[in-house]
Amino acid sequence: MIKEAKKKLNDVFGYETFRPLQEEVIEQVLNKKDALVIMPTGGGKSLCYQIPAIIFDGLTIVVSPLISLMKDQVEQLHQFDIPAVYLNSSLTPEEYQANIEKLKKGSVDMLYLAPETLLMPKTRELLSGLDIDCFTIDEAHCISEWGHDFRPEYRQLVEVRKDFPDAACLALTATATPRVREDIKQTLGMKDSETYLASFDRKNLFLKVADKDGPTDQVLDFLYTRKKQSGIIYCFSRRQVDELYVDLKKEGHSVKPYHAGLSETVRNRNQEAFIRDDVNIIVATIAFGMGINKPDVRFVVHYDMPKNIESYYQQIGRAGRDGLRADCLLLFSYSDTQKIRYFINQKEDEEKKIAEQHLKSLLKFLEATECRRKPLLNYFGEEYEKDECGMCDNCLSLDAEVEDLTVQAQKYLSCIVRTDETYGANYIADVLRGSKSKKVLENDHNELSTYGIGMEWSKDQWVQLSRLLLRQDYLEKDQKYGSLKLKEQARNVLNGHENVFGTLDRTAATVNGKAVDR
Ligand code: ADP
Ligand code: ZN
Repeated sequence: MIKEAKKKLNDVFGYETFRPLQEEVIEQVLNKKDALVIMPTGGGKSLCYQIPAIIFDGLTIVVSPLISLMKDQVEQLHQFDIPAVYLNSSLTPEEYQANIEKLKKGSVDMLYLAPETLLMPKTRELLSGLDIDCFTIDEAHCISEWGHDFRPEYRQLVEVRKDFPDAACLALTATATPRVREDIKQTLGMKDSETYLASFDRKNLFLKVADKDGPTDQVLDFLYTRKKQSGIIYCFSRRQVDELYVDLKKEGHSVKPYHAGLSETVRNRNQEAFIRDDVNIIVATIAFGMGINKPDVRFVVHYDMPKNIESYYQQIGRAGRDGLRADCLLLFSYSDTQKIRYFINQKEDEEKKIAEQHLKSLLKFLEATECRRKPLLNYFGEEYEKDECGMCDNCLSLDAEVEDLTVQAQKYLSCIVRTDETYGANYIADVLRGSKSKKVLENDHNELSTYGIGMEWSKDQWVQLSRLLLRQDYLEKDQKYGSLKLKEQARNVLNGHENVFGTLDRTAATVNGKAVDR
């Protein structure tokens, strides 16, 4: 039977080989045995039920909480000539009825349903008359109160499962801790079941946590070397989204906002623009990203602290689906922790206990001095064997030693003085780099003693230095014109009484392009 599955993989879907665990899961399902599948997003969960579905004579039911996702999946299946339908509230009565007729005729392989639809008596009655081979529950973590997205309707699926005692029960999720896993299996009363746990390590994601200190500048720094790349910046509140959106826009970035306070039309338009690469950056609340399958998202920034590890992992998981390197930056502050604590304190009993546990795990990751993959994967019940991953800030800390930047700071500051404190960061960098731009020549700045004395650094590096000098209070920026001015402290640097230390973001310089094994 597995030969047939392989053939379908090649002939119907056009893929060469199975991804890790797909083959095992498919075999289990084809044997009509239950399976719990835990695979990270992008791991290839869908094929685990789609291939058996086309091999089985009877119907495969797929319970999915997301209407948008259902539609996408069914449309994709149609492109592969696989007969599939869905039933949910987005259909017109006529469409709904047409799908029911198809089901009655037995002419479809797969039926996608929202849990609410499945729980309706008339749906259950319809299904009881059909030949059902597999009962699939997608996003199965919604069953568990220990998960991050508990949905009461999911609990009731247990009852429905009893309607099809001969069908294989397949539960899939991208996020399940050992506790949630147990919960799912127990709740669904899985028999002869096997748990399939794929590694959660996304090797191509570079993980970095930085202390939040002038976050807007930190984001601008980060974006500076990532021009034209697609990325998502998550903020905690709608207001924060709006503010950051304006700030980025002002700096000339190609950016759109996304949060539940915007109309559906605007949200959809912004999301589409992002997917089609009409816009590079989306600044969003956690409302953004569900069901988005854009392969070349090159970075995910957490401007504010995520709620817990599960949501963090899910959100960074939207980056680098193509397997190429992608960068994840989280800005961490204790005041954000206080906000989360405040919400936790509003909860009671069990719920409070769970939330506290979640925060503790998150802090373990954020405060880690060892490889970040250890606490992260540990949360998902996985032991990270290596000492270093080479793809997180802690593993690179030897590399990223604090540098003495005094000489460059002196050059930069004196160039600002010589151009009368009237220009912004880019212009100063141009003068230092001996640019022949019209503006520089018109201003006779090629006559200055600081003209062309900064060839040792790229423009990027000089601009990064300006941000560092701003953060360290040597400079201030004119809010209206963006021109840089010296602060009192800068005199000490210029007359050699004070050294400047810091780390320019080297990870930024090596981003992009290089393929990393998954
Ligand atoms: P998940 O549901 O786990 O997030 P999907 O099922 O959506 O992941 O699969 C992610 C992507 O990987 C899809 O574009 C899918 O077509 C592709 N994919 C899945 N299995 C394979 C495979 N064996 N070979 C190549 N591509 C695959
Ligand atoms: Zn590491």
